[in-house]
Amino acid sequence: VLGEVRRYLEEDGHEVVVCADSASTLKTAKAPDFDVALVGLHLAGEDGLRLCSLLRSNEITRHLPILLMVDEDQMSRLAKGLELGVTDYLIHPIDRNELRARCRTQVRRHRYHNQLRDVLQQSISLAYTDSLTGVYNRRYMKAYLDRKIMEIGEAAKPVSILMFDIDYFKSVNDSYGHAAGDRVLKEMVIRVASGIRDSDMLARYGGEEFVVVMPTTERDVALAVGERIRAQVSGTLFSLGEGDDQLQVTISVGAATTRDPMETAESLLSRADQALYQAKHEGRNRVIEARPGLDALGTSLPS
Ligand code: GH3
Ligand code: MG
Ligand code: MG
Repeated sequence: VLGEVRRYLEEDGHEVVVCADSASTLKTAKAPDFDVALVGLHLAGEDGLRLCSLLRSNEITRHLPILLMVDEDQMSRLAKGLELGVTDYLIHPIDRNELRARCRTQVRRHRYHNQLRDVLQQSISLAYTDSLTGVYNRRYMKAYLDRKIMEIGEAAKPVSILMFDIDYFKSVNDSYGHAAGDRVLKEMVIRVASGIRDSDMLARYGGEEFVVVMPTTERDVALAVGERIRAQVSGTLFSLGEGDDQLQVTISVGAATTRDPMETAESLLSRADQALYQAKHEGRNRVIEARPGLDALGTSLPS
């Protein structure tokens, strides 16, 4: 029977892999390119239904359509199979046209669902990442920063952030084109990400402006990280892709720290932004620390 099924399917342009037992079927079915599994009720003495239930419960194969092949007198087992999540069935003797039609339907269905899942995955990640650079977006970062600030306890360490902006980035676009500018942004993210800890978060704040959130980080550490990032950017030329054009890129950095669980992300970001502005003003390619927050000055917050 298997030989016949295989021949029918191959004649229809499908690629077929025949497995002798449950273990090898499970292993084989985990390859990402299968569209349908055909399962007989008796596999070398093993229970085909058990294989169906294993396929259904495995993380990788749980969306793979299963076509069960049964005998006419096995209707109660078929019912059990459908309960277990078998997608469709064929009754022996297998009719060529029926086999073909059912497989086609399942293949089409499977591909369509995979596509839907990809689209869903994409829109989920669009909600919190920046599509050009792949780092977190501004909205997600702000929510995360608010959470981290609120987590500052009595004795806990402060939260620090770095806000940095590429110096004279407009002239990169103007001289080399927007695509070259995009390359610089991507390379920037790779460099900065490699210079921060796993517990730090890098986010794109705006066009050519980024923020690093560093939970439980003292101000002197934050300043040192800022300085290291600044040096990593300015110290090695950026490749622009076309030809051998290489360019020195620098950034200006504002650093801000809070120990106050009542300070908002908005306020901390605004202090970092002012420090960044000062860094620009004082000649760029430098790190400037923000003025302390209200709490650190001993001033009560306006009610
Ligand atoms: P400064 O040193 O004061 O920061 O000068 P600047 O030229 O970097 O600042 P400005 O704000 O005048 O210019 C920012 C530029 O960043 C303008 C904009 O076209 C460019 N930009 C913003 N987002 C993107 C992007 O996604 N890709 C590219 N290629 N350019 C971008
Ligand atoms: Mg800039
Ligand atoms: Mg800017």
